[in-house]
Amino acid sequence: MNKEITKHIEAQLKELNLKGMLSCYRDMAEKAAVNKLSYEEYLSLLLEEEIKGRKERSVKAKIYKARVPFVKTLEEFDFSFQPDLGEKELMRLGSLDFIENKENLVFLGPPGVGKTHLAVGFCIKACQAKYRVLFMSTQKLIEDLMMCVRDGSLTKRLLYYSRLHLLVIDEIGYMPITKEQANLLYQLISMRYEKGSIILTSNYSFEDWGKVFQDDVVAAAIIDRIVHHARIFYINGASYRLKNKLKNKTLRG
Ligand code: ADP
Ligand code: MG
Repeated sequence: MNKEITKHIEAQLKELNLKGMLSCYRDMAEKAAVNKLSYEEYLSLLLEEEIKGRKERSVKAKIYKARVPFVKTLEEFDFSFQPDLGEKELMRLGSLDFIENKENLVFLGPPGVGKTHLAVGFCIKACQAKYRVLFMSTQKLIEDLMMCVRDGSLTKRLLYYSRLHLLVIDEIGYMPITKEQANLLYQLISMRYEKGSIILTSNYSFEDWGKVFQDDVVAAAIIDRIVHHARIFYINGASYRLKNKLKNKTLRG
């Protein structure tokens, strides 16, 4: 390819921000020549590559914005390790109808059984489907709401949270929650009620939420709004974190 033309093409592709085409137009031109593709076929392949790259970058940006703690998919979840957890139902939920129907998912169970992994898996799917998604640990969410109370921006912040298609509230009960904090969570959950999906995870079963929130009434009100339209999964299997450790121990005798 003529050096002058190459320079000119690359400058123009950069100006138009056509990153996908920029990275592949030369290789593709060589292949097109070898395979005797028409100009139209070559152009069509270039455009396809550009669109594919843009979609990938946009999903990546969405995942970054969703603030997931790690990137793991539903497909990476080893259901054979949790045989009592309805694989079929969870994979069906992967079609994200629950987001369209503004329903909630709740994962309850001891540490290490994959509650956060499943919540993240749904976040990734939702990002791929272009939903507005945010993953928050309960701790971070409470800190954020408390800060907004202090600087008088709570209403605005609650509105922001209520506009998300999917909000994950991870690890309810991991840290003690004061009455004031429980009230803030209640306000947030009430605002999203029947308006947007929540995925909630907790080490505590609902009976213990009174203790977690230090207030039976607020706990009951939160549970009521969450479970009204929700699928609840109790994961009672073993911790995946300990899986290999236990195996090693067995091998060592
Ligand atoms: P939890 O939130 O219930 O404490 P996590 O979802 O954080 O547990 O899981 C702990 C680690 O083990 C993560 O790295 C997660 O990806 C992995 N993990 C847990 N369960 C499974 C599973 N069934 N298949 C694959 N990885 C799993
Ligand atoms: Mg977790």
